[in-house]
Amino acid sequence: MEKSLHLEIVTPDRLVLSEKVDYVGAPGYEGEFGILPNHIPFLSALNIGSLYYKAGGKTHWIFVSGGFAEVSDNKVTVLAESAERAEDIDLERARKAKERAEQRLAQAKEKLDGARAQAALQRAMARMRVRGAA
Ligand code: ATP
Repeated sequence: MEKSLHLEIVTPDRLVLSEKVDYVGAPGYEGEFGILPNHIPFLSALNIGSLYYKAGGKTHWIFVSGGFAEVSDNKVTVLAESAERAEDIDLERARKAKERAEQRLAQAKEKLDGARAQAALQRAMARMRVRGAA
C-alpha cells in the first residue's frame, strides 16, 4: 500500500512545488477538503485561500488563488492562477494591495469593479494570513 502522496503546484509562470507529502488540505470551492494517501480520484475547483501540506512532521502553508486540484494515483496536482509558498510572500506588497482594494471598493460604482476589488481584497488578506502562518 502506498504511504505517501506527491504534491505538485503549478501556475502559468512556474512550478511552485513538487514534493512527497503525507497530507494535503486545500480550500475547495465548496469548503476545505483533505487528501491522504490512497484517496479516490477527485477533482475540485479551488477558492482563494491557503493550502497546507504535512511532510516529515511539519506543516507548510501555500497561498493559492483560483484554479483546480486533481487527485489521481497518489498524485495531487494543483493548477492555480497564482500560488506562493508562505516564505515567498511579500507582506508589504500584500498590505498595499489590500489598501488599494479597499479604496476601490469604497469608490466602486459598477458591480464588476466591486467584484474585482473584492477578489483583490480576498487575495491580499489570504496572503497576509499565509505569511503570518510561516
Ligand atoms: P498585486 O496587486 O500586488 O499584483 P494581485 O493579487 O493582483 O496583487 P496576482 O494577480 O494574484 O496579484 O499575482 C500576480 C503575480 O504576482 C503572481 O506571479 C503572484 O505570485 C505574484 N504576487 C502577487 N502578490 C504577491 C505577494 N504579496 N508576494 C509575492 N508574490 C506576489
